[in-house]
Amino acid sequence: VNHSPPASLAQALRELDRAFDRKGAIHNDPLGCVHALAPEQRELGAHVAAMLSYGAVGQIRKAIGQVWDACDGDLVGASCDPASLRRRLAGFAYRMTSADDVTSLVAGLGCLLEEHGSLAAAFASGDDGQGDIQGPLTVYVRHLRSGMAEWSAGSRGARYLTPDPSTGSAVKRWCMMLRWLARPDDGADLGLWGDMLATDRLVIPLDTHTSRLSWWLGLTTRKTVDFKAARDVTDALRAVDSLDPLRFDMPLCHLGISGACQHRFVESVCSECSLSGLCVFTRALGGKPRLASD
Ligand code: SF4
Repeated sequence: VNHSPPASLAQALRELDRAFDRKGAIHNDPLGCVHALAPEQRELGAHVAAMLSYGAVGQIRKAIGQVWDACDGDLVGASCDPASLRRRLAGFAYRMTSADDVTSLVAGLGCLLEEHGSLAAAFASGDDGQGDIQGPLTVYVRHLRSGMAEWSAGSRGARYLTPDPSTGSAVKRWCMMLRWLARPDDGADLGLWGDMLATDRLVIPLDTHTSRLSWWLGLTTRKTVDFKAARDVTDALRAVDSLDPLRFDMPLCHLGISGACQHRFVESVCSECSLSGLCVFTRALGGKPRLASD
């Protein structure tokens, strides 16, 4: 992969970022559920919300809301009393995730809080500050899973809820959570770990939307959506913004989440899209897509 996107693509990405309504978009994103919590709950809440972020956004937000309700918005308090949380979550189920899985996640996060004082400190304890986030994240997940074991006994559901970065998978949910925590507060991302984790070490959370768009824009040639593909795409974005490559993640992702991009040339949509003439569906048209009346 050539990591330097053409100047026109760099310009288009900057335009896409500039025009994107972050504060509005959080209402159609799991991140909005984290904003609904009190500030002192958001670090722990970001972990729970991110790990539940698989499937359709509406269903994800509903499941997260059920967990918040079971905790009365006090996740930190719930992490100190997992037995009570398990009772309050009785009946909760979201696809692969049961009440016991959520209880074990919150209990595991509680163990890290007890040991380190904050989740940021827990993450930093396994971070030598070198390279991207894959190494420290692997250590972090290992510590978290050992804290969860008492409540989950390593169940399949608990493992699914906390993907292991050492497998080489894209670990979209972890990468997304680290973006939420490390990027500065811009009305969407939270800026809670900014002092501890530099934004140039983040790796893009490649989901259905961003992986397809990355492929269509030529940001990666890998057909497998794995951590290597995520690094490819991040490197391409780093060539546009070396310090904050993930500023483009949410605008790209929401082209798909919002349903605006229909994966084909639709004149009314594509003529307004910053990526017109650059994605695979409009590239042949060159520059802005030709209108039917041309
Ligand atoms: S130009 Fe059209 S097809 Fe291409 S990314 Fe934009 S909305 Fe999607």
